[in-house]
Amino acid sequence: MANSKSPWSGQTLTAQGLGLTDDKTGAVVLPTYAATTYLRDADNQYRSGHVYSRDDNPTYKPVERLLAELDQGQDALLFGSGMAAAVAVFQALKPGDHVIAPKVMYWSLRNWLLGFAKEWGLDIELVDCTNVEAVEAAIRPGETRLVWLETPANPMWTLSDVAAIATLCKRNDVLLAVDSTCATPVLSKPLTLGADIVMHSATKYLNGHSDVIAGALICAGDSPFWQRIRSIRRGGGAVLSPQDANQLLRGMRTLYIRVRQSCETAMLLATTLNNHPLVSKVHYPGLTSAADHELAKQQMPGGFGGMLSIQVAGGEHSAIKTAAHTRLWKRATSLGGVESLIEHRASIEGENTPVPLDLLRLSTGIEDAQELLNDLQQALEKAHDV
Ligand SMILES: *Cc1c(COP(=O)(O)O)cnc(C)c1O
Repeated sequence: MANSKSPWSGQTLTAQGLGLTDDKTGAVVLPTYAATTYLRDADNQYRSGHVYSRDDNPTYKPVERLLAELDQGQDALLFGSGMAAAVAVFQALKPGDHVIAPKVMYWSLRNWLLGFAKEWGLDIELVDCTNVEAVEAAIRPGETRLVWLETPANPMWTLSDVAAIATLCKRNDVLLAVDSTCATPVLSKPLTLGADIVMHSATKYLNGHSDVIAGALICAGDSPFWQRIRSIRRGGGAVLSPQDANQLLRGMRTLYIRVRQSCETAMLLATTLNNHPLVSKVHYPGLTSAADHELAKQQMPGGFGGMLSIQVAGGEHSAIKTAAHTRLWKRATSLGGVESLIEHRASIEGENTPVPLDLLRLSTGIEDAQELLNDLQQALEKAHDV
């Protein structure tokens, strides 16, 4: 159980990978335990605490402890992907349970909820979770088991008020889980605002180098529900490879400086493009004109994130052409890596997407900010034959 609260800041803990060294060798980088199975003692006991690597792997321990420290939770669990982590929370519910999830959220999870989760008997209701009153009205006392939030939410970067919704949930005995992938623990700590569970796609900012698929859950406190999630990981087998767990710990060592640089660049892009004649709208909670800017200042004291979206003047065709004319920005899905990515979001979400057709999603990396801005400006001009 990862409940030792460290005296050090998140920045120091990540930089040093918790400051742990290998007892046997003095190595300052921890080893990867590739083993799938572990010795049983002669008296038939398992004193090492390890039996089989689908249950747990020693390589996970420092990563899970670090994640728990960063989000100020009690315990953490690594999963084979962000989706596996999120799905484990819903699988821990029972058929018939009523679940509130946001209308604007990560597309693959939204599809999973409206497809599989409904078929398996969960009563999924999509609600405008940027509106606390709407969440309050949707809660059915005695029937609602879970509220799922994503903040800031893909790909409009609107916020949900975690503290206010946590109060509602507590009053009605409802669990609150928050997908905090895009905020990262650097910018926001939902467990300190009253959430029960935080989820991260560690594929994104936590690893930060677009070379590991991983997910994590962190709990505020142990509970039968948390133990059910743990047993779902073991039984369902959606485990992370130990090599990827160690690589994730390596990636996390630079988390703070990467996220801060991305925030700084995203702010420059948002404020500049907000006044650009070829951009009709910028979606970024750091803009003083954003509807939830005041909430963002409270809930994201470390910065407003590295993600923003722009709507391009001239519509879908101009947006796709803008992405085509960039030289530095890579046209790819995903986010949170050191390299900047640009994506015409509606194209990947396909039919029935609620995303505006002229929208480009930008994941700012850590390249030179001015070069990133110049590249977007020249691409916008080329796309509009300026
Ligand atoms: C990427 C992402 C996920 C899913 O994570 P995977 O690691 O790709 O499975 C969930 N939520 C958000 C906000 C994401 O960006």
